[in-house]
Amino acid sequence: MASMIHRLQRIVQEVNRAPDIDRALVLITESLTQDLNTDACSIFLAREDDPEAFVLQACSGLNPDIIGRVERRLGQGLIGTIAERAEAMNLVDAPRHKKFLLVPDSGEVDFPIMLGVPIIAHRNVLGVISVQRVENAFNEDEEAYLTTLAAQLATSIERAESQGRFSTKQATTHMIKGVAGAPGMAIGVAMVLNRGVTFESVPDKKTSDIDGELQSFKEAVRKVCEELMLQADKMRDSLPEEECALFLAYAQMLSSGSLIDDTEQGIKQGNWAPSSWRDTVEQHAYVFAQMEDRYLAERANDIRDLGLRVLRKLMLEQSVYLDFPDQTILVGDEVTATDLADVPIDCLSGVVSAHGSSSSHVAILAHALGIPAVMGVPNLPVKQLDGVDLVIDGYNGSAFINPSKSILDEYHQYLREEAAIEKDLLVIKNQAAVTSDGLQVSLLVNSGLMSDFTPSLRSGAEGVGLYRTEIPFQIRDRFPSEEEQFLIYKDVLETFRGMPVVLRTLDVGGDKPLSYFPIAEANPFLGWRGVRITLDHPEIFVTQVRAMIRANVGVDNLEILLPMISGKGELDESLVLIHRVRNEIEEELGQKIVFPKIGAMIEVPSAVYQIEDICALVDFVSIGSNDLTQYLLAVDRNNENVADLYSSLHPAVLKAMRQVVEGAMRSDTPVSVCGELAGDPLGVMALLGMGIDSLSMSVGSLLRAKKVIMSFSYEELTELLQLALAMSDASMIRDMYAGKLDQRGLGGLIRAGK
Ligand code: PEP
Ligand code: MG
Repeated sequence: MASMIHRLQRIVQEVNRAPDIDRALVLITESLTQDLNTDACSIFLAREDDPEAFVLQACSGLNPDIIGRVERRLGQGLIGTIAERAEAMNLVDAPRHKKFLLVPDSGEVDFPIMLGVPIIAHRNVLGVISVQRVENAFNEDEEAYLTTLAAQLATSIERAESQGRFSTKQATTHMIKGVAGAPGMAIGVAMVLNRGVTFESVPDKKTSDIDGELQSFKEAVRKVCEELMLQADKMRDSLPEEECALFLAYAQMLSSGSLIDDTEQGIKQGNWAPSSWRDTVEQHAYVFAQMEDRYLAERANDIRDLGLRVLRKLMLEQSVYLDFPDQTILVGDEVTATDLADVPIDCLSGVVSAHGSSSSHVAILAHALGIPAVMGVPNLPVKQLDGVDLVIDGYNGSAFINPSKSILDEYHQYLREEAAIEKDLLVIKNQAAVTSDGLQVSLLVNSGLMSDFTPSLRSGAEGVGLYRTEIPFQIRDRFPSEEEQFLIYKDVLETFRGMPVVLRTLDVGGDKPLSYFPIAEANPFLGWRGVRITLDHPEIFVTQVRAMIRANVGVDNLEILLPMISGKGELDESLVLIHRVRNEIEEELGQKIVFPKIGAMIEVPSAVYQIEDICALVDFVSIGSNDLTQYLLAVDRNNENVADLYSSLHPAVLKAMRQVVEGAMRSDTPVSVCGELAGDPLGVMALLGMGIDSLSMSVGSLLRAKKVIMSFSYEELTELLQLALAMSDASMIRDMYAGKLDQRGLGGLIRAGK
């Protein structure tokens, strides 16, 4: 068993390292011939232009001249039959099978024993691997081995094929398909962020300038030590002294001892500083990792972490300054929210990320900035895209690499049409969001960046329905102090003076990490997240709530929202802390203050079923449709493999939201929605139909949502919701609402072109 796993691992690794698909296929046939002791082996792959035609791409033990010349259609011959049935065939006398088709000149008749298995990735049959022998039927173990291998190789083959196709046809248009991340379109130039300096990415290099390398190494260490001391200083405002001491200990660990000596030794032997440092760090980390004592073993991570800091300093000095093209489309394996912040906002036109989906935070941020995003693109040839022309369509999640003139013309036309729609929408900017039969809807914005304040005010928002406080936390390298937070919150409260501003307490964990507060968990979305963290760290929670309440003095428009509430207990505990802060501040000021409204996010299924208990404790609830969808459907909001299953218009999600509305109405508690659904024109139709009259969304969606509201009556939306709730799946519901939107001539609100 062990040897089978090792053999499999070896082949998969070799194939993944192969420079191109042809070499990968040769490797597979060679390994199979050896491992399964076969006399012949062949691999057929589907044609790019016709997925029902399978062409022989590699073989061993057969006449090599037939490579590229034998083709089988779906259902034709044994290969076509395996592809059609999508299952293995194990035959002792292949030529006697009724589907057998002889390939002239192949030498095949000599090998009557045949085992063939399909190669399937993402439900598509990519090809067929077949092995043949003169004698000895393939046993069950061999069949299991080949099936496992084909399943493991499928994604590698898919990736190698896609990258190969791309690189061999550089100048031709290549369409890629992911999922819609944030709406809009862009024509621009791909820019692959060189964020990922890792130990693995450091090449070995020799140097003749030993003094120069020693110098830059010392300089890098000095800078990191300086940063660590500064961090310790800054942390004193927000963390207890013991935790600050950690930074000093790091600085000490760095500036003396064998880490430095060993690296200098390596440089003196002629290695450049980055690889010498890499080797030293890896050796030291390894020694710690092997230690029995858990505490000491964990120090391996500290060493790697410190190591990376120094490495980044070293590598940055060796790399060139990034020049951003005017129409930058940020491309990466996993573009993050903070990557967006690295690009000057005037240059940023779009985002394409191999991983993630519309509810990833980077997509939400792109949406807030009015920038299209295409997420979850399988096999995105990231490394080959830097500087390449791109057209991206964030409505349907597609993009074109090296777009042809006709595609460029088409998208220029769409962009003109979109500009016309935007212009039309401006007409309603100062009008109230009221349905044709008089239901008044409050439209608020989701925020977290200073940069969206002005556009939010300009687009007629009636306040901030969700301020994600984690964003100012994420862009720092330590917890912001109470004073820093006070200034940030004061700014937003003042900017929207006279309108409600909902500040959400820190919602980190899940896919929102803090670089300075690492959390390693097997299931982060089901783990330490949101209010669970802040209740375990009351010092963080209390500092934040103090900053919020102090900032509200004299402005009096603050509302506090608690994320990830999964039970009444968390609310009770949060409320105790919030009241304690209020008392403290009143005592400090010697005066009574206006106590903010407190709300709970409904984004965990348990909260749906406890809605009445929750409403009894709070002033309002806000439905977080992003997380509620993820938790109800058991679909990771960032996982592109299951992105097709993620839909906030799923009947189960709509039913849960209706249950929340009904529960809240019974106790007269206002309900709003602040997930992405609230800004999706189809979502607006569904939510209004439930009687929800307060929606908070990305500023870019505001006028579109208003247009939808003004184009329908509440009565008809109630009827449409009944129809939707009777449907069995999300796509039927989506089509039904999209059809209604089209009938009103509003299709351009949800797709490219009018
Ligand atoms: C949500 O879950 O719907 C929500 C608004 O919160 P976030 O997207 O920040 O998790
Ligand atoms: Mg959430």
